[in-house]
Amino acid sequence: MLIVKTVAHMKSLMREESGSSVGFVPTMGALHDGHLSLVRKCQKDNKKTVVSIFVNPTQFNDPEDFEKYPRVVDKDIQLLMAEKVDYVFTPSAADIYPSKDEQDYELGDISTTLEGEHRPGHFNGVASVVKRLFEIVSPQRAYFGLKDFQQYQIIKELNKRYDLGVEVIGCETQRDADGLAMSSRNALLSSTERETALHLSKALKLIAGASNGKSYNELEQIGEDYLSEVDDIDLEYLKVVDPENLKSPNGENHQGNRIALVAARVGKVRLIDNMFV
Ligand code: AMP
Repeated sequence: MLIVKTVAHMKSLMREESGSSVGFVPTMGALHDGHLSLVRKCQKDNKKTVVSIFVNPTQFNDPEDFEKYPRVVDKDIQLLMAEKVDYVFTPSAADIYPSKDEQDYELGDISTTLEGEHRPGHFNGVASVVKRLFEIVSPQRAYFGLKDFQQYQIIKELNKRYDLGVEVIGCETQRDADGLAMSSRNALLSSTERETALHLSKALKLIAGASNGKSYNELEQIGEDYLSEVDDIDLEYLKVVDPENLKSPNGENHQGNRIALVAARVGKVRLIDNMFV
């Protein structure tokens, strides 16, 4: 496994790899089995696998969140070595952003709702780093978790609108045995907070179980009522939407899939989760 620290080195390695299939898994580190499931899928589909570890400052709208974000690069490298990954890319922020990225990415309505509404600037930061990383690595395929469902939709849109030419692949959310969605931020939870956080996936399961014949609004109400009974959860949103456009057409009978998405703070930790319902 090669650890690549600079953009110039990564680009030159990828020039040598051109012609063989390269798959890419962008991460912010503090790796868990959710990340590793992406890595394994990538290895299955491609000759070479690149994993990036970069805590992207431009996607944090809250400076304290950026500061507290868990950073355990040495441990991450051990994990990736055990997975026999080909390249780990650990660039510096100065190398990724030699000048300020001023571009406003136009990604349509899906970027202004849910996380877009609650974390202003977040998706612009995600778009700028993913576009930059795609340009450096030039992968055939890139792997993203459905845990960040809206991000996955945004990246597909970015890829299409900016003609980045990458096959964007979504991978199922990995959960702990009790249902909590794996997240790097879970490491910041106390054991009591972890118990509290478990109610997020429970609320989503409750909605999934009640979905048949109910309207979008009724399902949201079921989830909100459940979470309102839980102490110490500060709910930001719980929405049931069409997964393609992230809208909930009120009053209409639904056809096909729906997805419930939730964001909440447990103590100081902001968590998100979702489930098809
Ligand atoms: P992050 O390090 O949080 O930026 O995540 C890097 C990638 O791993 C993103 O595509 C995430 O959606 C994905 N990911 C994070 N948690 C999970 C999970 N529990 N299951 C599957 N993929 C995940």
